Amino acid sequence: MTRVAIIGGGVSGLSAAYALEKQRIKGADLDYVLYESSSHLGGVLQSQLVGKCLVEAGPDSFLSEKFWAVDLCRELGLEDQLITSNDAGRKTYVVKDGRMVPIPNGLMFMAPTRILPTLRSSLFSWTTKMAMAREWFVSAPTSITSDESVAAFVERHYGREMLEQLVAPLLAGVYGGDASQLSMRAVLPRFVEMERKHGSLSRGVIREGKPESHGITKPVFTSLKGGMQQLTDALVKTLRPASLRRNTSVQALQPQGTKWLVSAGYESDQVDAVIIATPAYVAAKLLNIADLELASELAAIPYNSSIIVAMAFDRRVRALLPQGFGFLAPKSEPIKILAATFVHNKFGFRAPEDTALIRCFLGGTNADDYMQLDDNAIIEIVRRDLHRVLAISTDPLFTVIYRWNRAMAQYVVGHLDRLARIVTLCQKLPGLALAGNAYTGIGIPDCIRSGMNAAAELLKK
Ligand SMILES: Cc1cc2nc3c(=O)[nH]c(=O)nc-3n(C[C@H](O)[C@H](O)[C@H](O)COP(=O)(O)OP(=O)(O)OC[C@H]3O[C@@H](n4cnc5c(N)ncnc54)[C@H](O)[C@@H]3O)c2cc1C
Repeated sequence: MTRVAIIGGGVSGLSAAYALEKQRIKGADLDYVLYESSSHLGGVLQSQLVGKCLVEAGPDSFLSEKFWAVDLCRELGLEDQLITSNDAGRKTYVVKDGRMVPIPNGLMFMAPTRILPTLRSSLFSWTTKMAMAREWFVSAPTSITSDESVAAFVERHYGREMLEQLVAPLLAGVYGGDASQLSMRAVLPRFVEMERKHGSLSRGVIREGKPESHGITKPVFTSLKGGMQQLTDALVKTLRPASLRRNTSVQALQPQGTKWLVSAGYESDQVDAVIIATPAYVAAKLLNIADLELASELAAIPYNSSIIVAMAFDRRVRALLPQGFGFLAPKSEPIKILAATFVHNKFGFRAPEDTALIRCFLGGTNADDYMQLDDNAIIEIVRRDLHRVLAISTDPLFTVIYRWNRAMAQYVVGHLDRLARIVTLCQKLPGLALAGNAYTGIGIPDCIRSGMNAAAELLKK
């Protein structure tokens, strides 16, 4: 019998366990144990009912176009629980000089697919609008450039204002990341490929069209009626309770010939294979004995922390808030929150009709400073910023704060080369597979795929 240890009970580790359990049920001669250091299975997927509001502590949705998550939900019998974002009212604002300016329609990330809305927008100066017009005539590069930062790539195409007003705040809002550090190839590969093929991104997005399925454009985000935790709870239900070790932190891994010794607390267990589905810096510590070079490559993947602050307000605030999903704040604005989501507009099943639910995101490069602050100081920052941008001065009905210490992997310039070295080093260690958000995608669908691939890889060997 093949015995597998899975370390980490976030969505990546649970997906790996689910894939193994499916094989076991089909008759494969295997067994697995999943170790999770906390009492909660699901990692950063945590949904909480506060009063009549459903509050997401971590992720609020996943990208619909990445099908691994929707497919898994269907397989788990959650099809009737899937909800999509209210895209009819989809509008995101960028704070400019203290006012909210909508991102013009037809802008695909940074590349305009429609001219008029961008021309009319007050988000960009005429210099940037002229740069967009010139970009149309850029031809495909004759040689392949090496990896570069998102900031350098965007500046080459559309200039500094596009970077500062739109792309940097978008990346800060999604990754808690810094555009001058993040790798273009790892974070926005589609645009790198477009540049290679067409030169101009504006021509590229028009030629390649929108991602569609059977001619129908899907809503951008998908979630679950009962919150994102429904997904991980459903995964847990498929697993044998005897295979789950909550509150059990793995402290060391030791290769023993073709086997591995897993040490957790006073227990140790010899297994044939290990899937490490923890953050990369934990994987680095665990692999110190097995391979120092691999451990140092893993330790070099940086992580950022973030803080989510959810505040609910009464009907007066709800009436005052504009349509749309929320706002992003460029660094040039004198506010600290990076982004805010108007949750009651974005999804159904989140807040009663008479309540506004706003989720604010603090973090990015200054995250570690905010992590040191106490709750009152954080609440003060958020209330001051909401007052500045949305003129909200009433007391919230409730506030909840969630701190995520080093939970967001950062794909910095050179990430794909590091990943290639990690893959090569892993291949030298039989019975080892890695999964999680540090490698081939930070979003939930990518993490699901990484867990399932890790399980498949081990079963192939
Ligand atoms: C605030 C926030 C918002 C996000 N929003 C979105 C979003 O809207 N959409 C989206 O697609 N993605 C989003 N993401 C990203 C996505 O949610 C994560 O990348 C993904 O859930 C990570 O899953 P994971 O299982 O790899 O890691 P984690 O969820 O971090 O799980 C790792 C687990 O390993 C455990 N562990 C650590 N060390 C040990 C040890 N020694 N022994 C045993 N267990 C250990 C931890 O306790 C943890 O439970 C967000 C992330 C954050 C933090």
